[in-house]
Amino acid sequence: MSHINPCQTCGACCAHYQISLYPDESNAYPGGTVPVEYTVTLNDHSLCMKGTNLYPPRCAALEGEVGKQVSCSIYDNRPNTCREFNVYELDGSPNTRCFKLRGLTPPATIQP
Ligand code: SF4
Ligand code: SF4
Repeated sequence: MSHINPCQTCGACCAHYQISLYPDESNAYPGGTVPVEYTVTLNDHSLCMKGTNLYPPRCAALEGEVGKQVSCSIYDNRPNTCREFNVYELDGSPNTRCFKLRGLTPPATIQP
């Protein structure tokens, strides 16, 4: 059975929130992965993805057209905030913010 990832035709969360990350997540630090040129410094303790500090927000790493066809150009190196924001939570319950962004009502059931 194949599962189509709705994120590939969405991208709403990448063009809605300010996506914050810790400075040491950037590749300016040893072990960091997020390309520093895609980030903006907010203060001593946090960065955000470039473009998500603007209005309307849109991450500089997002390619394509929101709601049609999108991809993350730094997918393998994206920050933890992005890794942790998914259609479903780890326990299988729906991510209500994701469903709301897509104009959908979250399903009542937990995904198997
Ligand atoms: S996590 Fe949800 S809001 Fe974000 S791209 Fe995927 S489907 Fe869209
Ligand atoms: S880094 Fe990738 S997943 Fe995260 S907000 Fe930007 S485009 Fe979206």
